[in-house]
Amino acid sequence: AKAAGKNQVVVFTPALRTEHADRSRLLTELRHALPGEELVVHYQPVVDLRTRRVLSVEALVRWDGPRGRVMPDQFIPLAEETGLIVPLGEHVLRRATADARPWWDAHGVAVHVNVSARQVRRPEFVDVVRDALASTGLPGAALVLEITETALLATGKVESAVVTAHLAALRGLGVRVAIDDFGTGYSSLAYLQRLPVDIVKIDGAFTRFAARPGDESRRRRALATAIVELCATLDLVAVAEQIELETEARAVQSLGCPLGQGYLFGRPVPAAEIAPLLGRPADA
Ligand code: C2E
Ligand code: CA
Ligand code: CA
Ligand code: CA
Repeated sequence: AKAAGKNQVVVFTPALRTEHADRSRLLTELRHALPGEELVVHYQPVVDLRTRRVLSVEALVRWDGPRGRVMPDQFIPLAEETGLIVPLGEHVLRRATADARPWWDAHGVAVHVNVSARQVRRPEFVDVVRDALASTGLPGAALVLEITETALLATGKVESAVVTAHLAALRGLGVRVAIDDFGTGYSSLAYLQRLPVDIVKIDGAFTRFAARPGDESRRRRALATAIVELCATLDLVAVAEQIELETEARAVQSLGCPLGQGYLFGRPVPAAEIAPLLGRPADA
């Protein structure tokens, strides 16, 4: 048996050993995937719920490794733990800013890039972003950095001061900051006022309940309404995530949420496939 934390004991079963072997193999393969030949960046539209026009796209990484396609939930946590998220994130940032240049020039469509707290904390972070913008010719206004609320709030005092300072410096370049998966983490609504953010992405857990009957749905709808109203008061733009159904789109829109994202409007697709969707309503 192996001690895990103070109060629990994990029995080291064959299943766990296999998991461990899988993990180290995945890690070795991921090291090989960098600096990036096997990493593919897909893009998913973010739309104006009223006009259904694509306002921006979110960059989502996939890994086409030696054993096929791997989705981010299966390697991003490992990359975060091991620090590989730094070169990985930099690769996605460079790819996404390069891909987005023609979309911005032709349609004013911005690109969202997910960044981990570990990247944002680094002293080089502001320069890395500035450099990606300079080398692709993309203006700061065309870039949105997405960071989870857990990442923004869970770090220590000194670290969160560094994160805040770096985000503030980037906002000085016109870059916008989105708080991701809002509502799932610490979610004190009062934090919204203090954080250096422009956009709030409301987690799919709220969207999915928006159009359903029942008490649980009613509670989530009430919280979603409070978030949307607070965003409006604080001049933050709210985006409802993971909208799959027309009824969900209408429900979150009726709460006053201006923007949405989800399979209803478009799945994440390669750069070549996103271009034709720009400049016209996503569900046309
Ligand atoms: P996220 O940032 O919250 O991204 C949204 C996820 O929801 C994406 O999963 C997207 O494909 C999925 N999604 C979008 N619309 C719908 C919908 O209507 N229904 C459902 N069920 N799902 C929907 P994906 O691409 O598998 O990415 C998972 C997570 O991996 C992301 O969650 C993000 O946290 C992380 N991730 C992805 N790319 C990167 C990256 O380049 N850097 C970092 N640090 N994290 C990334
Ligand atoms: Ca995101
Ligand atoms: Ca999200
Ligand atoms: Ca998420």
